[in-house]
Amino acid sequence: MKNKLTFLFISVGLMIVSISGCNLSAQTQSNEPPAQQKYDTATLNQKADSVLSLMNIEEKVGQLTQFTSDMNITGPYIRSNYEKLLKEGKVGSIFNAYGASYTRKLQEIAVDSSRLHIPLIFGYDVIHGFRTEFPVPLAESCSWNPSLIGKTSRVAAVEASASGLQWTFAPMVDIARDPRWGRIVEGAGEDPYLGSAIARARVKGFQGNDLSATNTVLACVKHYAAYGAVEAGRDYNTVDMSMRRLRSIYLPTYKAAIDAGAATIMTSFNTLNGEPSTSNHFLLTDVLRNEWGFKGFVVTDYTAIKELEHHRVAKDDAQAAEISIKAGTDMDMQSGLFLKELPKLVKQGVVKESTIDQAVKRILKMKFELGLFKDPYKYCDPQREHRDTMTTANLKLAREMAKKSIVLLKNNHNILPLNKNLKTIALLGPLADNKKDLLGPWHGASHWQDVQTVLKGIKDKVSSNTRILYDKGVNIKGGSTSGFSKAVRYARQADVAIVCVGESETMSGEAASRSKIGLPGKQLEFVKAIEKTGTPVVVVLMNGRPLTLPWISDNVPGILETWFLGTEAGPAISDVLFGDYNPSGKLTTTFPRDVGQIPLYYNHYNTGRPFQKNNKYTSKYLDVPNTPQYPFGYGLSYTTFKYSKPTLDKHKITTGDSVKVHVTITNTGKRAGEEIAQFYISEKYADVSPRVKELKGFAHVNLKPGESRQVTFTLTPQKMSMYNLHMKKVVEPGTFEIMTGPNSAEVQTDTLQVVNPQ
Ligand code: BGC
Repeated sequence: MKNKLTFLFISVGLMIVSISGCNLSAQTQSNEPPAQQKYDTATLNQKADSVLSLMNIEEKVGQLTQFTSDMNITGPYIRSNYEKLLKEGKVGSIFNAYGASYTRKLQEIAVDSSRLHIPLIFGYDVIHGFRTEFPVPLAESCSWNPSLIGKTSRVAAVEASASGLQWTFAPMVDIARDPRWGRIVEGAGEDPYLGSAIARARVKGFQGNDLSATNTVLACVKHYAAYGAVEAGRDYNTVDMSMRRLRSIYLPTYKAAIDAGAATIMTSFNTLNGEPSTSNHFLLTDVLRNEWGFKGFVVTDYTAIKELEHHRVAKDDAQAAEISIKAGTDMDMQSGLFLKELPKLVKQGVVKESTIDQAVKRILKMKFELGLFKDPYKYCDPQREHRDTMTTANLKLAREMAKKSIVLLKNNHNILPLNKNLKTIALLGPLADNKKDLLGPWHGASHWQDVQTVLKGIKDKVSSNTRILYDKGVNIKGGSTSGFSKAVRYARQADVAIVCVGESETMSGEAASRSKIGLPGKQLEFVKAIEKTGTPVVVVLMNGRPLTLPWISDNVPGILETWFLGTEAGPAISDVLFGDYNPSGKLTTTFPRDVGQIPLYYNHYNTGRPFQKNNKYTSKYLDVPNTPQYPFGYGLSYTTFKYSKPTLDKHKITTGDSVKVHVTITNTGKRAGEEIAQFYISEKYADVSPRVKELKGFAHVNLKPGESRQVTFTLTPQKMSMYNLHMKKVVEPGTFEIMTGPNSAEVQTDTLQVVNPQ
């Protein structure tokens, strides 16, 4: 034992030498992670084993334990006395603590005072930026631009790692078809194909290609699994679904992130078909480890182990800890039950020590891979923190991403773009000069004071002769209309009224479900009052979910969906309002007309009685059409695009073949613009009822007025495969409809025959 301890002290000693000797300012300026010496798997195993062999059972479960610091609290608080536990070596990770100096202070306690000097991992929810706030993930997804999203994730990782962090609880890849659920804002919308592309981009952006670089962080895919399908859109509620739906729609995004190398994954709060995710052996071991070959570690969601008692699958703390570790979790976020119960359970022979060892080893390996044993303070460099945070380049990227996230929903009579020389503009509404809400939920460590408002963006944009009459007019929430009259007066004096309305940032995100998803408070009445003045109105929406907007859609000529765009919101919105950027974003979630239509999504089944006008006994409502207000994939531009019919390079293939699909797109308007062309398929008949449409490709095309370009999509067997009656993923011979178009509701079709090989 003595020898082994000496070994560890040597490595810790080396580590301390490297701390005092490290050149704190000699870090790379670039966002590309520098290449470092990586350990191979055998060395990592060896190193983790050498530490594991020194540990007693309390220290082992300590590594499996994560507590929040007092700096920021993101769930029900359980006082953990973490500083004392750090000294005792009973904590493996701290979350909700950041800052080069603060994390150094906590790291020093763990490294200097605990018996084995094992460094901590610091985690945080870096969801859409750290200090430089990028658009909320749902907004970013509307760019349909995984490569740009990869860049914003990269910058988030650079800023977060410069602030002492080496782990983000992102990407959130939960497919969401229910806009009542507040957490729809954290994901990439309703589609598994697009969602998977974005999931991969985020993982690569966060992790780079080297986890030991000082400017990369571990990704954590969440919330595994199917959290986005909570019943009635109520957060933390039940999920119950068929295996077919689970495997076809909900699991692919997690799998894509794991395949892209995500280092960690988080369990979800919900039950899935009766079993909570946090004690779900099928999800955590059978699928994640055995089918997908996941090698990283699993962290539970916040106090999710304790919640197994509320789910009533565990009668007490001991049973909760037991069933969770046995199902395949590795780290306990915030419940403290592993620490409290596992040593006893091992002594009683209820849980094998080898089960604990396996989990500890996964976490130790990650610490070695990060290089924390070599230098536990490598992320604690105040100079780098200052230098790499909120740089000009980061802000430029934030503006670029924000512009590309905006979706133009309506533009009657080309009310937009506006002329920069207008005489008078009325800028109205509770979000027009608002900094705090524009950050959106989960805004990391950003400061609301840094946000550029719409008022500021417009002032910087228009001519010096343009008069801007700003008035808030109404609050986001509440029943008062007393501010209307001044705003109405301003609107009457103006050439155009820009009305910024929507939700507050706390109305979406965690624990923020809504049963009515129209504009809250008196905002709709406010828009009506402004519209009544006869001055042309442009509504600029800021919100974290699809809203129901029937009146606005019918009556207001210009509607811009801007979500919550973060630090550079104002400049990006005015770039679009005044035509310096031609909007290109497209919706990634369906906008229903009415809350009663939910769940409403494009890739649904046909039913036995598909809707027919004037036929009573078909699938429909008596009081609202089946169609959405705005479908998946929808978004306008200041120019117009015309699509040819799709053409195939072959009309008959065998089940193992691929086929190329071409479509020509022409800019038929007067401005240059970017179009996001979409490619869908549907098998005409199959043993299992096929979905009416499934996205299988998309492409960005930049076209000058009058210009045409051909886009080619490749349809592979993988894209054609579906789960058959026996839940095997196969390509079934048959006829496929091949569809291309500007959104999921406006497609042109060709057909493809797929036959068995002779
Ligand atoms: C959320 C997670 C988050 C965690 C830590 C939980 O309440 O569900 O998404 O990562 O808190 O803040």
